[in-house]
Amino acid sequence: MNHQPSVVSALRCPVTQHAAGHNVGCGSANVSMVHGLLGLAQCNACGHWFRKDPAAAAYPEEIISTLSDLVAPGNSGLVLSGDLHGDAVRALMGEVLDSWADALREGSKDKLIADFDRIVGQIQLMRDCCAAVLPTQNVGTDALPRYLPAAELSEIKDSLDGLTQPITPESVDNHYPTRALYMAEIALGERRPYPVE
Ligand SMILES: [Zn+2]
Repeated sequence: MNHQPSVVSALRCPVTQHAAGHNVGCGSANVSMVHGLLGLAQCNACGHWFRKDPAAAAYPEEIISTLSDLVAPGNSGLVLSGDLHGDAVRALMGEVLDSWADALREGSKDKLIADFDRIVGQIQLMRDCCAAVLPTQNVGTDALPRYLPAAELSEIKDSLDGLTQPITPESVDNHYPTRALYMAEIALGERRPYPVE
């Protein structure tokens, strides 16, 4: 292990990487100690999270205790917001920490942090699913829902050839084949939807 003598002075956002894959900070001395047990701090300048002494051993119970404290309902705002979004992640962290507690106690060498990449993937899937189900006014025109793969949508477009009227707000409302073409073009990203009345 590469162990450098640490200078005892004001805590600074680290500019050296202490382990492969860890991010590097900005060197600012404007940092806040967020949790004392493992010396968890955050840089107020660049947002980087780090431990005061990254080389110090961390025991499973300390790790779980620190992370549990950060997401405890009484600690809203410490890391997570106190609204729906913070509460949702708080519930999620309960599941994650249950799983990690066992893994850490067993001395697991699994890349536990990768759980977050998979969770983000699952959240993205759920987001797209919700975007397809929610009313248009609750999704907005920025998130064009894609109900079908582009190849199938293109086939629907081709199938409507010769059956549609010119696309206008009126024909989209009154003529189903034209409406189908309109929806397919929106889903393919070829057309912006008409504003919702
Ligand atoms: Zn920084």
